Amino acid sequence: MADVINPATEEVIADIPWASVEETDAAIERAHRALEAWRAVAPGDRAALLRRFATVVRSHEDELMRMEIVNAGHVAGNARWEAQHVANVLDYYAGAPERMFGRQIPVAGGIDITFQEPIGVVGVIVPWNFPMSIATWGFAPALAAGCTVVLKPAEYTPLSAVALAAYALEAGIPEGVLTVIPGEGPVVGQRFVEHPLVRKVAFTGSTNVGKKVMAGCAEQVKRVTLELGGKSANIVFADSDVEAAAATAPYGVFDNAGQDCCARSRILVQASVYDRFMELLEPAVKGIRVGDPGDPASEMGPIISRRQWDRVASFVTDDVPVAFRGSCPEGPGFWFPPTVLESAESDLAYREEIFGPVVTVVRFSDEADAIRMANDTDYGLSGSIWTRDIGRALRVARAVDGGNLSVNSHSSVRYWTPFGGFKQSGLGRELGPDALDAFTETKNVFINTSD
Ligand code: NDP
Repeated sequence: MADVINPATEEVIADIPWASVEETDAAIERAHRALEAWRAVAPGDRAALLRRFATVVRSHEDELMRMEIVNAGHVAGNARWEAQHVANVLDYYAGAPERMFGRQIPVAGGIDITFQEPIGVVGVIVPWNFPMSIATWGFAPALAAGCTVVLKPAEYTPLSAVALAAYALEAGIPEGVLTVIPGEGPVVGQRFVEHPLVRKVAFTGSTNVGKKVMAGCAEQVKRVTLELGGKSANIVFADSDVEAAAATAPYGVFDNAGQDCCARSRILVQASVYDRFMELLEPAVKGIRVGDPGDPASEMGPIISRRQWDRVASFVTDDVPVAFRGSCPEGPGFWFPPTVLESAESDLAYREEIFGPVVTVVRFSDEADAIRMANDTDYGLSGSIWTRDIGRALRVARAVDGGNLSVNSHSSVRYWTPFGGFKQSGLGRELGPDALDAFTETKNVFINTSD
């Protein structure tokens, strides 16, 4: 049994039992037994069940929103968007079972056809930063493909995942098809990696644990997708709308208190507009309303835990020049003010993923310098490019090593489009039309038609 904490108040809001290795194994075996019947459900019926699941989620939108406010510290607007996002992603992948086409390939002596077969039991390992969205990115396409799913939420944020599993049953999805198993990473998550009946692991979290998951999966040549860390650049060229770039930059990094793998946590500004940009950035940062996530006026909530707070604070040391900071509540809760550092390229804060409301700002000289700096990291997840020159926007977007780039905006996640990282930010893609490929194997069948 473990306490679930509200990060805005430090109060215990629930007790959730943690699964043992034996309980995890039993759940995996149930998921395996459910597989045969689930993959045999007619495509139209599987689609209808996923649509019904989306409808049940919509009917619980307020509850899901409240759970994410009190459990993850998400501000109300974000939490509502996330609850709607879960239903939208389910609806989107409800379109998939009826469209899992194979191919007919011309060959000599017969007919050659391909099938997309479900991969089997899928283990989804979810982090605490976007608990219900990331869970859904794993289970929605997996269920659509005919896989069954065991899902481990993060220790800090199990509530919405537990609720979603109950909504799946309410929608008529059979027992064992989607099982949520709260527990510890090295216990439950590790069993997903080790257990031979789990045929694929979809992991989102830190790059360090992701590497271990990948190495563990290699033992059984187990399929794996990884969504890991980031240190993305927000590149502001002198020819951009500098006012708009400065006004939006805080939201590109401080959303979800900076606990976002896509956070644009390095702002690269062309030297000729650097002073002007900083002048505009200061009031924008100081204007961010940090407070009670349940208050609709709040724009930023707390950090998830004391442990994460300590990690974030370790980057704001006396030897790092703070340009300016916003404000935040005092008292109970893991509050941290939005913080802007003027860094050198060698600073730890400039190089490491902080995963909190801390951003570093540095100057660049020209386009080549901006591309060099943006790519000077082991990560490659997202990034923004601010310019009025469409040619430059496209050149830089092509040159930056990142899976999700946006021009004159800070958008990364749209469920219609692929999401994932270059380099050590991950392996494979989630969302979009191709996510089903990550949960299916291609089977080729040749039929001899000769006499
Ligand atoms: P982790 O990578 O430890 O946690 C992510 C998930 O993996 C959790 O469900 C966790 O379980 C599980 N896990 C932990 N150890 C194992 C293991 N040995 N085998 C299988 N699963 C495991 O991230 P942290 O919560 O420790 O955060 C640390 C840092 O990671 C952050 O500061 C940030 O930099 C980065 N991070 C990146 C995320 C992203 O979206 N890319 C998300 C979260 C963190 P449990 O909850 O029990 O620990």
